[in-house]
Amino acid sequence: MSEVFIPPTHPRYESLVLRERIVEALRHNVVALQGLIAHGRGECFDYLLGEQTIEPTLYALRAAAAALLLAKRPVISVNGNTAALVGKEVVELAREVDAKIEVNLFYRSRKREEAIAKLLRSYGAVEVLGVGEDADTTIPELYSERRRVSSRGIYVADVVLLALEDGDRTEALRKLGKFVIAIDINPLSRTSRCANITIVDNVVRAMPKLIQFVQELKRLPPSELREIVRNFDNEKYLRECVEYIARRLIELARSGITISFPK
Ligand code: ATP
Repeated sequence: MSEVFIPPTHPRYESLVLRERIVEALRHNVVALQGLIAHGRGECFDYLLGEQTIEPTLYALRAAAAALLLAKRPVISVNGNTAALVGKEVVELAREVDAKIEVNLFYRSRKREEAIAKLLRSYGAVEVLGVGEDADTTIPELYSERRRVSSRGIYVADVVLLALEDGDRTEALRKLGKFVIAIDINPLSRTSRCANITIVDNVVRAMPKLIQFVQELKRLPPSELREIVRNFDNEKYLRECVEYIARRLIELARSGITISFPK
């Protein structure tokens, strides 16, 4: 547990708690040092969104839930930050849609793979792929450690859900014919632009909502689920996200952004 006390009344309480969680996960080898930088970039975009799930994202979440329910061999790809922030939800979602969970790391080491798998198992994961010899094959066109995948997981998956991912790998997965769902709060990232469905939101807000949508849509017949996926236009959605941020910033600039103090 963290030794830092964050008063619940602090105006940025939730954000500080998440920071502490990431730092704590770094101490336990779950997160890589570079993961702190990625988290900071995410925080910046969360500020721009107003730290909320914006309305167009509900449609992205719905489409993602439908795609996961339709998948024959879904896989949730997990890195250090994702495990630290939403490990519990990853396990819950995997159970809901009968997906496999696979560890996939840019800064791969056996120690980190094991630490992430251990954390996921503590949340109830029965099987965690991509650890040690299980990452027994490679994805073509990738030169980083991320090319190593499990022949029982990502390699044979039809739908891959990933979060906080780099663009190269998303692109490589698309080229392999995978249907990629990405959770990335930056609507301008290569991952966001490359995925079939992008969820532009903080992963800590997105995952519980995605689970909720899955539970709701489970009742629908496949034909209706297919319709939901077909009607979702990722390019249009990303434009809406960027427009939302632009409009919000202009409104903020016009209405005044300073904090006033008593004289
Ligand atoms: P790309 O290659 O796709 O342009 P990048 O170089 O920004 O992306 P990374 O730093 O590897 O990629 O990945 C981090 C991505 O995850 C960033 O786009 C960042 O905004 C996003 N991110 C970081 N923290 C969160 C979070 N808590 N929730 C959702 N997205 C996040």
